[in-house]
Amino acid sequence: MKIILLGAPGSGKGTMAQRLTSELDIPQISTGDIFRKNLKEETPLGLQIKDILEGGGLVPDEITIAIVKNRLAEEDCSNGYILDGFPRSIAQAEALDAFQKIDCAINLDVDNQTIVSRLSGRRFCPDCSGTFHISSLQDPTVCPVCGGKLIVRKDDREETVLERLRVYETTTLPLIEYYKAQGKLVTVNGTGGIDVVYRRILDVLHK
Ligand code: AMP
Repeated sequence: MKIILLGAPGSGKGTMAQRLTSELDIPQISTGDIFRKNLKEETPLGLQIKDILEGGGLVPDEITIAIVKNRLAEEDCSNGYILDGFPRSIAQAEALDAFQKIDCAINLDVDNQTIVSRLSGRRFCPDCSGTFHISSLQDPTVCPVCGGKLIVRKDDREETVLERLRVYETTTLPLIEYYKAQGKLVTVNGTGGIDVVYRRILDVLHK
């Protein structure tokens, strides 16, 4: 199955994609993860996109499309995949349509207040790459998995979160109409606990 996960930053795409990937045995393709890995490893691409990522903007379409096109051509994607964070613009969606036929686009619907609270409460462990929310941490500075020192990701800082939401609303939101017009859009309520939201997704996939 070829699935797109749509939704604002903080809507839970990454978490849901991780669960789906093990359940359906198809890879999760996260453009955000690909870009962060390049940033961490200071590759030429990483250096080129550093300011964009840290400012909450979008990496240019031609770079992003080329990366996804190459990735989807790999053997492990032949039975399907879950796209997490791509497409993020109409141009990216049109490019994807030109080389792949996706089955459905799942839109995780979460209100703005919940999004801001999720992102501003998010903490990241640079040692083990774990992501946590302060509401589930005894000590918001210590990683519960490896004991590392938790940080706020640069793109989770308040001013960057607001910019990411602005970019989402202007550039990514039109994709909902785009996939609705193709008859491929399914909207799932993304609020509530992880298990509850995941169940809702499985229910729509089984239909
Ligand atoms: P994410 O983890 O999906 O929120 O992505 C983190 C950052 O990577 C975004 O704020 C963008 O700067 C960049 N990014 C991820 N996916 C895309 C995409 N499809 N197009 C352009 N930029 C992207």
